[in-house]
Amino acid sequence: MDIVISNAAIITGDGETFWPRGQVAISSDRIAAIVEGHDEDLNARGTLRIDAKGAIVFPGIINGHAHGCAHGPAMPSGSPAFPQADIDYFRNRHLLAGTTTLVNVCGLALPEEIDGGSGASHPLQVYVTSAHTPSAIAAADAVDGAGLSGRHREMNLDRAIALGAIALGEGGGGQTLGGGAQDYAFLPRAILRDTGVSVAPRDAKSLKDALLGRALDRADRPPDSTFVALCKKLDLLRHSTVDAVADIIKNTVMKSVVPARRGLAELAQASSRTGLPAILHTAAPSAKTVIDLARSLPTSRLIAAHCNHPSCTPEQAVATARSLRELGVTIDVSTLDCIVTHWRNTAENLDALIGEGLVDTLSTDFAGGHWDGILEAVHRMIVKGHLSAPQAIALATGNVARLFPAFHDRGLLSVGKRADITIADRHNLSRVRHVIIGGKRIIQDGANVATSSSLIH
Ligand SMILES: [Zn+2]
Repeated sequence: MDIVISNAAIITGDGETFWPRGQVAISSDRIAAIVEGHDEDLNARGTLRIDAKGAIVFPGIINGHAHGCAHGPAMPSGSPAFPQADIDYFRNRHLLAGTTTLVNVCGLALPEEIDGGSGASHPLQVYVTSAHTPSAIAAADAVDGAGLSGRHREMNLDRAIALGAIALGEGGGGQTLGGGAQDYAFLPRAILRDTGVSVAPRDAKSLKDALLGRALDRADRPPDSTFVALCKKLDLLRHSTVDAVADIIKNTVMKSVVPARRGLAELAQASSRTGLPAILHTAAPSAKTVIDLARSLPTSRLIAAHCNHPSCTPEQAVATARSLRELGVTIDVSTLDCIVTHWRNTAENLDALIGEGLVDTLSTDFAGGHWDGILEAVHRMIVKGHLSAPQAIALATGNVARLFPAFHDRGLLSVGKRADITIADRHNLSRVRHVIIGGKRIIQDGANVATSSSLIH
């Protein structure tokens, strides 16, 4: 055995199994044995023996919805790629937080762009999805599209899948469906450019909600007194009129909404045809579309992304998730910045969905780069008594692996599965001590011990 981990508590990732003491043995890149209790013979056979007393061992976290971890066009807006240093930083944060597999769902980056074509790779296993449909590309162009080359524009779903994209999506996004990225990026930029006033993300959201409604269903109505009062409060009328400010917001937010909604339908249809899961941006402006698609395409395999989206009230989030669950849709929630950072979001919607037993999977999403860790959310669920530790861990291991055909080899601690393993403090699962990927120890005692050449490009 190459590695034997002993004396740790064990969660296998199936949603139930918890052993107070057990062992996991690794041979090459696979799990070779897993036992409850302690077998000294097995321990003695380990070339490397990890005494994990006081720790808990579980499958490496699979983050099924993240952004900014592949080179190539960023986000459903097809924006220019993030700088290399940012991508390294984002990947390192996920890795140090116990994630071993990550699905970058920006949607327009290609499999060949995962590592930037530089040949250098990072120990975090990154995969990409495809949203290369005519309407998704039109939606990207309506809001940005500056990161798209001819090759991206000519790509289609089938070719991207043949090249290695593992799923479909993200259909829509905060950029193209009036969500968070409009609040923290596009709207403040447009308002500053046209009025000379800088507004904070929260204020951009308030202006957008007052003018267009949380579901973007009031765009045809004239600005009301709430909107006028907000414009005055934010000093936007110094050099502009109410109508001019309303036009800036409408133009920035609404242009991409119709093609983005059409893009959701294209991906759901492709899911029916290919059998691959389609990850759809689920928020107040898209919830009805996602429900209608689930109903009209019963053979599609839809993942309703971040059902705790802040555009919904807790009651709306629960009602949407309940309708989708009845239609067989997977309910995903994202940490966003709502666990500890609290930059723009709170955990209210996530708590409501967990409380109703409606959550299947847990991811981070991006939240402007301020996402909180999956294990921070897991720890919170456990200490608040919302879920047992095995139930909470399954949301980001076994449950995710079941959705993606490419992940049939991971997500559970069982013999023959890939040796992707996270070892954390038993009383705080977000305190990660060791991470093993493909049988190699990558994080040791909280520090990255992978060769520096694989981390620094
Ligand atoms: Zn999204």
